[in-house]
Amino acid sequence: MNDLIGREIIIDDTTLRDGEQSAGVVFSREEKLKIALMLDSIGVREIECGIPAMGKDEQASIRSLVDLGLNARLIPGTAAVIEDIRASIECGVTAVDISLSVSDIMIENKLHKSREWVKEQLKSALGFAKEKGLYVSVGGEDSSRADIYFIIELMEIAREMGGDRFRFCDTLGILDPFAIYDKVSALRRVVPEVDIEVHTHNDLGMATANAIAGIRAGARFVNTTVNGLGERAGNAPLEEVVMGLKHACGIDLGIDTHRFVELSRFVAKASQRPLPEWKPVVGKRVFSHESGLHADGVIKNPSNYEGFDPSEVGLQRRLVVGKHSGTSGLIERYREMGITVSRGEALSLMDQVRTTAQQTKRSLNDADLLRLYRSVGLKNAA
Ligand SMILES: [Zn+2]
Repeated sequence: MNDLIGREIIIDDTTLRDGEQSAGVVFSREEKLKIALMLDSIGVREIECGIPAMGKDEQASIRSLVDLGLNARLIPGTAAVIEDIRASIECGVTAVDISLSVSDIMIENKLHKSREWVKEQLKSALGFAKEKGLYVSVGGEDSSRADIYFIIELMEIAREMGGDRFRFCDTLGILDPFAIYDKVSALRRVVPEVDIEVHTHNDLGMATANAIAGIRAGARFVNTTVNGLGERAGNAPLEEVVMGLKHACGIDLGIDTHRFVELSRFVAKASQRPLPEWKPVVGKRVFSHESGLHADGVIKNPSNYEGFDPSEVGLQRRLVVGKHSGTSGLIERYREMGITVSRGEALSLMDQVRTTAQQTKRSLNDADLLRLYRSVGLKNAA
């Protein structure tokens, strides 16, 4: 992983733009402010904050985000249209992402235009934005399906006109990590002067892997959203990218991860998209242990079956007694309830534990465990 050591990698979280763009998701202004404040306070350095072209309400929201005076840079999304960029400037931001469709499929079938037209759009929008002193990300919508030589042409225009970075968008979530690695590596090699950002989607379940592959290939910026909220199957989740970089790649971005669960639950509620309990990193039950061998291993030393400590993201370890439990887990659960059970006693309870789990199709709660304890005539139930 030496290719990553010492490199600066910057999260651009787009929960407030691509996240809110999920079908049916709407944040109130208060929710937007709270999400931005939390992202800022945990150390996220850039926040994509909406689309000024959507009108007065959105512009007022962006203005109130600017008024927070965050450390994070605020960057709205705009089309390559001077009026939209002007609307962004009026909101008080100092950066914009200028989005252009770059694949022939979209240029021909969506825009009914040509590559030449796209280049002209870029030149006029980028020229205007740089003249106004903005930091500019050039967003390549559908970069995955674009001719890479055309992307290079656009990046060369960006370089010549002072564009600050190119956003490589896997808009449809169709690449695999090897493909995105190859494409980003090639672009880095040919146009090293322009930073690259990767924007990945989860349609094939590869958003996190693709984001990390893009970073490993040389991207300095990465787009994320809290809980992976975003168009269709969503974006690369902030919490997964940060923890993946930290624990799979050995790169600590300096983000305060302890508040991930708090942030995740707030966004889940505000977006009305409840999280699956098994959601990686922040799901309620991703540190629950039931099966005999795993529970026993975790009791001996949590690192036996946990890749990182749950407290690192604000979760807690839970031992669960159920169909697959063994005696160690059962003894430990009783101990947590203040009841001492010997190994022999635990063995004598195991049949009933399994029967109860099978009948109820769930793990056993404290009341079940107390009832079982008493039913076999053991005393001292606390
Ligand atoms: Zn997107």
